[in-house]
Amino acid sequence: MTELNDLPIRDSLKGKKPYGAPQLHVPVALNVNENTHDISEPVLVDIISRLALALKDINRYPDREFTNLRKSLALYLENGLTEDQLWAANGSNEILQQMFMAFGGPGRKALSFSPTYSMYPIIASSTDTNYVEVKRSTRYELSEELVVEAIAEHKPNITIICSPNNPTGTPVSIEVIKAAYEATDGILVVDEAYAEFSLNNDSALSLLEGRERLIISRTMSKAFAFAGARVGYLAADKAVCDAMRLVRLPYHLSALTQAAAEAALDHSAEMLRTVSEIREQRDRLYVALQDLGLDPYRSDANFILVGGIENPDAVWNALLERGILVRNVGIPNTLRITAGTESETTAVIEAMAELLGTK
Ligand SMILES: *Cc1c(COP(=O)(O)O)cnc(C)c1O
Repeated sequence: MTELNDLPIRDSLKGKKPYGAPQLHVPVALNVNENTHDISEPVLVDIISRLALALKDINRYPDREFTNLRKSLALYLENGLTEDQLWAANGSNEILQQMFMAFGGPGRKALSFSPTYSMYPIIASSTDTNYVEVKRSTRYELSEELVVEAIAEHKPNITIICSPNNPTGTPVSIEVIKAAYEATDGILVVDEAYAEFSLNNDSALSLLEGRERLIISRTMSKAFAFAGARVGYLAADKAVCDAMRLVRLPYHLSALTQAAAEAALDHSAEMLRTVSEIREQRDRLYVALQDLGLDPYRSDANFILVGGIENPDAVWNALLERGILVRNVGIPNTLRITAGTESETTAVIEAMAELLGTK
């Protein structure tokens, strides 16, 4: 039988592991931070009619510049942005990959602050970019001092700050972002995949003016309840979009993706209607976990990292036996739990209470 390493694969990929959050069909899936609420019927109907229209021209290549989508995204983000400052791709993972292709690569270095999003090192490795992780301080917080020192020491070409941070939920203040930008002469990426859930912090979008090396990465996969459509985007100086044009594949965003995303953005208020409820469930989950004697971390996103779990593997399995899927991100004594609907949140709280013997 042929093994991966029997193939003439690139040396830098030998021994590497692919991204692999388990995909299991269970009643309560709280493992990959999706918005678990259904999209409303009227919005779905509108999306379907826009897809039908797009299908009429499906023999033709799509708009390579996805101009209408970029206009919709600019309107949605406000902050005085125009469509020439917006760029989209198949999920913000592809946005990150295009950024690494344009600004990273062999002999170059990317820096982030661990624990953080597991795709950063994977995309660094697939683009042959060196990757350095500097540890966050207590409770996974980030200070101006820590970030500035790390940048001064490592002199990265790309610095990524995830805010709120996945998998810890930690918000990052706008002052830290400003300090990081001042400290680097490379690209600073702020990954705001969970920005819509954040109440504690302003988006770094307000910093874009006059900062041509700053990139804000966003996604429709989380708050927007659109993970299956694969739509991510960035806001930056328009020169950054020109850099993306050098590395993207022509027609990378299908006509169907463009149509669905434009339709969803036309209903953005309705699409985001569930965000405040998800925040309530997150806060409820936090209190409940604390009451169980566990150690949840403060979160500004739609999930909670909970510490104080003696045997995370055993708890993960016991939850799965009860039809509940959460995430073991590999941080000792923790699990990460997405805030779902009210009944999903109730299910996970009750199961945890039972498992910890307090019920
Ligand atoms: C989920 C997530 C993303 C993006 O996912 P896409 O579905 O590819 O848009 C990006 N960054 C972080 C930190 C995430 O948690």
